[in-house]
This record gives sequence, structure tokens and C-alpha cells, in this order.
Amino acid sequence: MSSFSDALHAALPGLEKIRDGLGPYPTASHAALMRLRSLRPTVAETPPAPRPVPAVQAPGPAAATVSLESDSWTLDSLREAALACVKCPHLVKSRTQVVFGVGNPNADLMFVGEAPGADEDAEGEPFVGKAGQLLTKIIGAMGFSRDQIYIGNVLKCRPDMPAGSMGNRKPRPEEMKTCLPWLEKQIALIKPKVLVALGATAVEGLLGNTEPVGKLRGRFLDFQGIPVMTTYHPAYLLRNQSISEKRKVWEDMLKVLERLDLPISEKQRNFFTKSDS
Ligand code: SF4
Repeated sequence: MSSFSDALHAALPGLEKIRDGLGPYPTASHAALMRLRSLRPTVAETPPAPRPVPAVQAPGPAAATVSLESDSWTLDSLREAALACVKCPHLVKSRTQVVFGVGNPNADLMFVGEAPGADEDAEGEPFVGKAGQLLTKIIGAMGFSRDQIYIGNVLKCRPDMPAGSMGNRKPRPEEMKTCLPWLEKQIALIKPKVLVALGATAVEGLLGNTEPVGKLRGRFLDFQGIPVMTTYHPAYLLRNQSISEKRKVWEDMLKVLERLDLPISEKQRNFFTKSDS
């Protein structure tokens, strides 16, 4: 077992139970995936759309003039333009790369986090650090793999840190507001049936809602007609070892599966029993 698996096993006994109890491809989940595949075309089945040439962005304020209004954008052309974005000069200076998003461009389910951290900035993919690996396990327990759903962030560049500082910082409201048009267009192109906002900062960036996650979670909010489930950020679960908090996240994910009209196995339904809390 890898050092990560050792650490995760120690930190997250509840979610390991999901893996051990259901296996990597639970029967009900298989059925769910088959159903998803039958509903939505996969990447390989989707013929490549013509790619418009995005507006060239000059460094500095002029870069903010890129128009996202056109119907000719595709997810690929949007990614290409976002990767060259220089709307936030302070983040451009500190970032390794823009972290656009990853997954199925036709996903029914999309997770939205707040911003890339150091690991994501280095790899160019959202949720690849320890919290991301936990998210991948939660996604797996729901019956998906990462390439069957979509994962993105409100802020697409890593928030800069003071020189010599370690760790990551929360994105500022004005930074998220500046970057939000990329995510809005991303969502408009992917057209997910359900969004999951991971943590308070993500829901603030997406919806402008500053209520605590504890008050928001467990019920659907709305983003431009798309239901949004707010739940705790996986990093919170890594910090908080309480089974009751893990159970809340899992209950939120069961509601998401129900909203997607996907089958839920008995094992999934009863994963956290009352005796666990
Ligand atoms: S955070 Fe968003 S808006 Fe700012 S430079 Fe990065 S991609 Fe552009």
C-alpha cells in the first residue's frame, strides 16, 4: 500500500469503508454509468466541433475584453483562451499555469472547488492533492470515475502567497468575481444536470452566498437553472475526523445521485449506519 493510501486509511476510515464495501465498480454503479453513457455521448463519440480563434489577449487590463458571448465557443477553445488569461497580473506572476478543469465535457455532474493549490498549480489539474484524492474516492463511491464527471474551480489560478510562505490561501471575493466568467461559460458549455459546490468559498464564488456550509448543505440551491448541492470541502474532512461530518457529505452525495435519477445500492444507502456516529 502506498504512503498516501496508508495516510488516507488512517485518516478516513469511513470512506475506506466505501471502497472496501462497494468495490471499485459496484453493480448498481455500473448500471448508473451505463445509464449515463446511454444518455450522454462520450468524448470519443463526440465529433470535434470547429474551433473558433479566441480573441488575442494582450497583457494587462486589455485582456479583460475577451468576449465570451459568442455561441461559437467550444470547451477546447475556451480552455485555450483561459490558459492565456492575464486578467489578474498578480496571479499571472506567481502561477505556474492556469488550471482550467478536467473531465467529461458532456458530464451530467460537475464539482466546483474554490481554487488550485500548490499541487494543482504544479500539475495543471484541479483536485490532485490529498483533498483531491479524497474527492476521487467519494466520486468513486458514487459510482463514477474522474473522467466521467467534470471538476473545475471558481478561480483558475493559484492564489499567490507572500514570499517565503507555505501552503495555500483562500481566493479573495474580487479575484473570484474577475474569474467567474470563465466558469460560467464552462458550465454553459458542459451543461451539467447537477453542480456540487465544495465548501463555503466555492459557493460564495459561484452564487455570492456567504452563509456557512453547515446551513447550506443538504439542500439544492440554483445556478442559472442548474441545481447546486453545497457540501463540505474534502480538505475539511481531512482536518475533521468526525464520522458525523463524513456522513453529512455522503448524505449530500446520495441526494445528488437521486437528483440525477441514478440507482443507489443498499450498500451505498446504508454506508453510514447510526452506530457509526
Ligand atoms: S484567476 Fe482567472 S481571471 Fe485571473 S488571471 Fe487566472 S484565469 Fe485569468
